[in-house]
Amino acid sequence: MDEVPPAAGTQSGEQPREGPSSTDGATSSVYVHAPFCARRCFYCDFAVTVDRESRHDAWLNAISAEWHQIRREDLFSFPEPLRTLYVGGGTPSLLGTCAMDGLASVIGLRLLSHPDLEWTAEANPESFTPAIARAWRAAGVNRVSLGVQSFHEPSLRWMGRLHGSAGAAEAVRNARRAGFGNVSADLIFGLPGHLARDWGDDLERVLDLGVEHMSLYGLTVEPRTPLGRAVAGGRERVASECRYRDEYLEAVERLTGAGYLHYEVSSFAIPGRESRHNEVYWSGRSYLGLGNGAHSFRKPLRRWNLRDWKEYSTSVMKGDSAIAGHEVLDRAALRLERIWLGLRARRGVSLASIPARATAVTERWMRRDWARAEAGRLRLTVEGWLLLDALAIELDEAVTNRKDGE
Ligand code: SF4
Repeated sequence: MDEVPPAAGTQSGEQPREGPSSTDGATSSVYVHAPFCARRCFYCDFAVTVDRESRHDAWLNAISAEWHQIRREDLFSFPEPLRTLYVGGGTPSLLGTCAMDGLASVIGLRLLSHPDLEWTAEANPESFTPAIARAWRAAGVNRVSLGVQSFHEPSLRWMGRLHGSAGAAEAVRNARRAGFGNVSADLIFGLPGHLARDWGDDLERVLDLGVEHMSLYGLTVEPRTPLGRAVAGGRERVASECRYRDEYLEAVERLTGAGYLHYEVSSFAIPGRESRHNEVYWSGRSYLGLGNGAHSFRKPLRRWNLRDWKEYSTSVMKGDSAIAGHEVLDRAALRLERIWLGLRARRGVSLASIPARATAVTERWMRRDWARAEAGRLRLTVEGWLLLDALAIELDEAVTNRKDGE
């Protein structure tokens, strides 16, 4: 459920032969993927394995094997304790009470000793039991991200979620009782109209949870999913653009009106509770990803792991590499990516960083009120964020002087 920025640049399925020197690989953020889910949601295209049994030991052994490979490789170095650790999935809360403690043993207490460490783990409401909450808190997890998605029973069933409308509130209670002061909730918008989901009611109920952070994701149709096949076969219809837009704008109004800072296209936080881990992705700093399908970045190299859990775990347990591919970003690709990631965030990008050949494009955005220039920075407006993907393509075409697909 964790969002990793998309890639730009040259691609290869081979191991990198050249890359950055080992002297500048200091990394302070780690993502760990937990791939198991009790059931696959209708729309989900993540690197997930459906398995109701706890695969705690197999998971921890594979993560440990990959982590020790990384430490020998010397491409990523960890001279200082980590600032952020994010365990995403999949459903980490399916891994049982000992998983986070086990992960702490793998990574080592020295690296988890920073007083400001943000350690997030994702959970689904039905498996975030009081025992899991207490065990995670005792292990050092201090932020929980809950996959709420909706409070509307028919919508939850349509999505294939396993919790009911009261599940989110119970999970938040479990988190609070265990001592979590930082809880995030994911909500999905743009569901098909036939579900008759009351979006305003869902927004009210998520506000009632009193969480510190919210992430809003528009439903996207991926061709490889059951939803994708149903849409292609005419058995399902997605929300209209108009509905998608209205729900996004309504959410922005309700959440910002309730005191949340809209600090990134999909993210809202009580000031001071912005996700520090996601900020690493958006700011171009280096991060290491462990687990199947995980991505790692160390300028100018991005690489990604084998996506299939069995393939990944078999490989690392044999002592072979987890890596499926990589890309080395040239300077132009790095600059473009930096601008695009910057525009996702409220702070925007410095006007000086916009290449001259893109000026006409950004001036047009400002005339349409999709962007504003303030204090030497270019920021997208909420209307601009609604068009983020299209604007990114436009920017890319203006900078590289080519149409997509050329
Ligand atoms: S719980 Fe999340 S990761 Fe698991 S199948 Fe559903 S959407 Fe995918």
